[in-house]
Amino acid sequence: MKDQTKLIHQIPVDPLTGSIAVPIYQTSTYVQDAPGIHKGYDYARSNNPTRKVLEDLIASLENGTSGYAFASGLAAIDAVVKLLETGDEIIAVDDIYGGAFRLFTHIYQKFGIHIKYVDTTNADHVAEAITSKTKLIWIESPTNPTLKISDIATIAKIAKANNCLLCVDNTFASPAAQKPIELGADIVVHSGTKYLGGHSDLIAGLVVTKTVELAEKIKFIQNASGAILAPFDSWLVIRGIETLNLRVKQHAENAQQVAEFLTTVDLIQHVYYPGLKSHPNHEIAKKQQKYLGGVISFDLKVDDKEVASLIVSNTKYFKLAESLGGVKSLCCLPCEMTHKSVPREKRYAAGVTDSLIRLSVGLEDAEDLIDDLKTVFALAKEKINQLERV
Ligand SMILES: *Cc1c(COP(=O)(O)O)cnc(C)c1O
Repeated sequence: MKDQTKLIHQIPVDPLTGSIAVPIYQTSTYVQDAPGIHKGYDYARSNNPTRKVLEDLIASLENGTSGYAFASGLAAIDAVVKLLETGDEIIAVDDIYGGAFRLFTHIYQKFGIHIKYVDTTNADHVAEAITSKTKLIWIESPTNPTLKISDIATIAKIAKANNCLLCVDNTFASPAAQKPIELGADIVVHSGTKYLGGHSDLIAGLVVTKTVELAEKIKFIQNASGAILAPFDSWLVIRGIETLNLRVKQHAENAQQVAEFLTTVDLIQHVYYPGLKSHPNHEIAKKQQKYLGGVISFDLKVDDKEVASLIVSNTKYFKLAESLGGVKSLCCLPCEMTHKSVPREKRYAAGVTDSLIRLSVGLEDAEDLIDDLKTVFALAKEKINQLERV
């Protein structure tokens, strides 16, 4: 079955009633025929038929053995870290998602799990950082917000040669664009909140495993820790996934147009988008991704927070909000929003300047989005002229 068909037909018709839409099993428990004799479901934390449809669907899309659905992307990440033991070490991408940084550093470090952050865009850095204690390599590709790309297949080889697990946070690409397990990763995690849900109406997380052995461990952790996804939210993610390919393709087409426009704007210093030939990892992005994503970042020649604030506060279609991956375009100013807790020096080292703006390009008409930006850039120019006059 090809992907586009899988998205739709891997979702089963309800065997009890023929309902073409997946039923929402809003229940906490299941009646048993005799003690311990039941239909495969005993308690809804352990298993729920609606959640199971989503879990099987994501496993199939990522070409893994099993999928598991969690209450948030961070709950999914948390379940993977729980595979480790005290004394183990994680090597993680240096501009990791802020929430994962907080979880690793402020929660797991105190349980004796050590974290080393390296620039994984150069796979040699990963090989150099590995020690006998390294058990897990954690990458995101593309990263947030400067969209760095790491070579998943090369890092997978390094992980394998050193007996480490490779986990890829595939949130920014989605399985419509990138399949880390096919490239050699052991585990894939998602914030289902973003492209999988796709409509900015839920919080969800997913884990997919390459082997049955890992699947059993994650299943045990999911049930033991209990951060499961509710039936209705599972249903919403299933519904979102049906149109995943179409959406991701269009997000990328729109983003490519917007990114190319941004490169022509004289106010702008850098444009970060893997689909631009000027992106330092453009070649590897094209090799491992079918679509190059819907997120773009850029910063200004005048590195001024006030001017950047003016831009993100006055767009009409790009709504000022955290998050990404929904049908509606969003914009944000990371230094005041998603990256506010990162110290300024560290933030600048990662390219997140005071004027860096992140766009999540939605599914509106690309021309309207570009016109929206043209209008705010004219405002920004006026503001800069005023600042220069005083
Ligand atoms: C949003 C996000 C997460 C966290 O997901 P939540 O659903 O918000 O918990 C993890 N990784 C990446 C790359 C994200 O963008």
